[in-house]
Amino acid sequence: MTRDNNAAKAAIARQTQNLAGEMARINKALFEKPELCYQETFAAGLLCEKLTGEGFVVRAPLAGLSTAFAASRKGTGGKGPKIALIAEYDALPQIGHACGHSLIAATAFGAAAAIARATPDHPGTLMVIGTPAEEGGGGKVKMIEEGVFKGVDAAIMVHPSNKTRVVARMFAVTEQVFTFTGKAAHAAAFPYKGVNALDAGVLFYNAVSTMRQQLKEEARVHGIFTHGGDAPNIIPERVEMAFYIRALDRDYFREVIAKVRQCAQGAAKAAGCKVTIKQRGMVYEPFYPSHPMGRAFRENMAIIRAKEDGFSETEEIGSSDIGNLSQVVPSLHPEYAIGGVEDINHSRNFLAAVMSKKGAVAAMDMTKAMAMTVYDLLVNPRLMAETKRAFKGAGAK
Ligand SMILES: [Zn+2]
Ligand SMILES: [Zn+2]
Repeated sequence: MTRDNNAAKAAIARQTQNLAGEMARINKALFEKPELCYQETFAAGLLCEKLTGEGFVVRAPLAGLSTAFAASRKGTGGKGPKIALIAEYDALPQIGHACGHSLIAATAFGAAAAIARATPDHPGTLMVIGTPAEEGGGGKVKMIEEGVFKGVDAAIMVHPSNKTRVVARMFAVTEQVFTFTGKAAHAAAFPYKGVNALDAGVLFYNAVSTMRQQLKEEARVHGIFTHGGDAPNIIPERVEMAFYIRALDRDYFREVIAKVRQCAQGAAKAAGCKVTIKQRGMVYEPFYPSHPMGRAFRENMAIIRAKEDGFSETEEIGSSDIGNLSQVVPSLHPEYAIGGVEDINHSRNFLAAVMSKKGAVAAMDMTKAMAMTVYDLLVNPRLMAETKRAFKGAGAK
């Protein structure tokens, strides 16, 4: 069993290596044709075509999204779990693939094709699920709502980064818009007839700043004025502010949202204004990584002698719609350095690193480790059972 397992993983690593050229072509094709969220027609089409070529059955479009897809391929080894590789492929406005989602697409394809070629006799079902619009559109959120992930036992993707780290958490995030409404008046002749909405906004900003001291370290609250009044000689009647609220823990996240809203209501009352509070866009839930999957991934990295950079689970973290997925399916989202530690996502340097030699080498290592981990999940019922137990223990939905 163990020797067979080692032989199977060696074969997966070899096949992944054989796919290096194909993966580089996918990365380059997407990189040169960056598509914004929900417009990734070329990227989704290319991936579907390549996966069909590897024997996958493709369903597209999906969940009412024209650029979402699900590709599946049953192994010949009988019943087993359904494991999904997640592909992202949307780009950023102006700067293109500066988050490296072109590499994510290439690595998801590479891992899927390598397993299909090297170990077609695996039990269970291998899937690639194409999830559009990670950069703000929340493609995964809509796909979860539409039931795309029902029956999926585990999900995994690898994301380019400034560091290599297998297990990390991510913040839940929501954008909330606060509109304070007062009453306009001549600021010199009749100031006492006005109700100053800017006063409420300033008090709100300061209330949040003061409250920050009482927040747990894991929370982030940051915001701006998006409308501060119309002219200096008019008592401001409408002031609008937008805030992002983040936290690592789902329950605490709700608590912080309530605290921020309280600040707004208190400030409105103090200034005699009204306040309306609206959520903008999707809520990204916190990402709870699967530790059993993380351990398997690390063991596979050790086999190919790939190394981590020694960051903790909560250093330098952001938010992603894979957070929502991690609440309904055990998920892992390892990241890997494609440039130096100062080359951070969404920067010009990172953009260059996406097409670099170093990036390609790192992506290859992570694809191998990811493919081997998916194989582990498919063939090792003990690992799958442990993954499910840990998932329940993490308090996901
Ligand atoms: Zn990004
Ligand atoms: Zn990204």
